[in-house]
Amino acid sequence: MNTHGAWLGILGGGQLGRLFVMSAQSLGYRVMVLDPDADSPAGRSADCHLCGAYDNEAMLAVMASRCAAVTIEFEGVPAKTLAWLSTRCRVTPDAASVEIAQDRIAEKALLSRLVGVAPHAVIRGEADIARVPENLFPGILKTARMGYDGRGQIAVADRTLLRAAFMHLGYVPCVFEKRVDLARELSVVLARDVSGGLATYAVAENQHVNGILDTSIVPARISTAQARTATDAAVAVAETLGYTGVMCLELFELGDGSIIANEMAPRPHNSGHWTLDAAMTSQFEQQVRVTAGLPLGSTQQTMPAAMINLLGDSWQHGTPDFKMLLGDPQTRLWLYGKAQARPGRKMGHYTCLAVDVNAALARAAALHVTAARSVSHAA
Ligand code: ATP
Ligand code: MG
Repeated sequence: MNTHGAWLGILGGGQLGRLFVMSAQSLGYRVMVLDPDADSPAGRSADCHLCGAYDNEAMLAVMASRCAAVTIEFEGVPAKTLAWLSTRCRVTPDAASVEIAQDRIAEKALLSRLVGVAPHAVIRGEADIARVPENLFPGILKTARMGYDGRGQIAVADRTLLRAAFMHLGYVPCVFEKRVDLARELSVVLARDVSGGLATYAVAENQHVNGILDTSIVPARISTAQARTATDAAVAVAETLGYTGVMCLELFELGDGSIIANEMAPRPHNSGHWTLDAAMTSQFEQQVRVTAGLPLGSTQQTMPAAMINLLGDSWQHGTPDFKMLLGDPQTRLWLYGKAQARPGRKMGHYTCLAVDVNAALARAAALHVTAARSVSHAA
């Protein structure tokens, strides 16, 4: 495929889209973004921003006629849009895979068959609540659709509270999941190309705060056998779906060392941001390569890494002072150019590199404390 001046399209204009745009442009592509927000991070860095809804047929027609191929940056894109586009240009990932990732019920069924998941029950009505086995409590009620960063989830201690939580979530279809004892959270990012070629990245170890990813440490501090189990699980999901594109499988390590699956993301993932600075090919370049039909790049890790998310909370008293981060020779800062900093909103991240993962984590933690301190000084 001739990259010079060719167009790629992406649906969604957040930070994942922006990093895709930057990667595509570095390989000589032009990028068209469709996103309803006039000031979206990806829209502002794209060669063309179509500002409209994801089912705007006129805009989708422009995208299909100009772009050789289209991809997505979030799973909320209507599957109908992907199906419509796929009759006019190449679309990765395919609508069927995205539909499964959009629906926690279908996703749990697939992951339960291939990997194993936390004990759970599907809740569609009051009768399902009455049937929930006692051993699922305490648990978490999660909406089947449109949940992210812990939104659409309620922790529930007993059946009475489960009824109240179901009402609070508007009686929409849900999955009620036993709260499992987590030894560690893990994730595997991989890319699979149109001819079935597969490339997996090192397993990430993830720490969440208030349901939002806070830190990813790579490689995860797990045994070789566990890393193989985690990687094999992600590969099994991709192969079973006949998936094309970049995807991530989120996993839980339980107290006994066993590994179960949580959910999949049909796109690059926050826990793969370290690949921008510590892998031969970033997850975003990999997405560009699959979208454009280029060969996959090497996923080899170049340095142990710790990635920390920067949330809007740190902007409470204005833009944080990043002097320490910028002055650190082993640290790279990425900001997404979002105008509004709201609590919990992902504004950027930084990645610390070191000779081993514990040193990278210690460096990341020290810089975090410094950033927090400089914020309170500014207040
Ligand atoms: P994200 O978009 O950040 O992936 P999400 O809203 O899709 O989040 P989940 O990934 O299902 O939600 O859950 C978010 C976090 O909540 C998990 O990473 C984990 O820390 C915790 N969690 C979820 N389910 C369970 C469970 N069954 N037992 C224990 N902890 C859980
Ligand atoms: Mg998750």
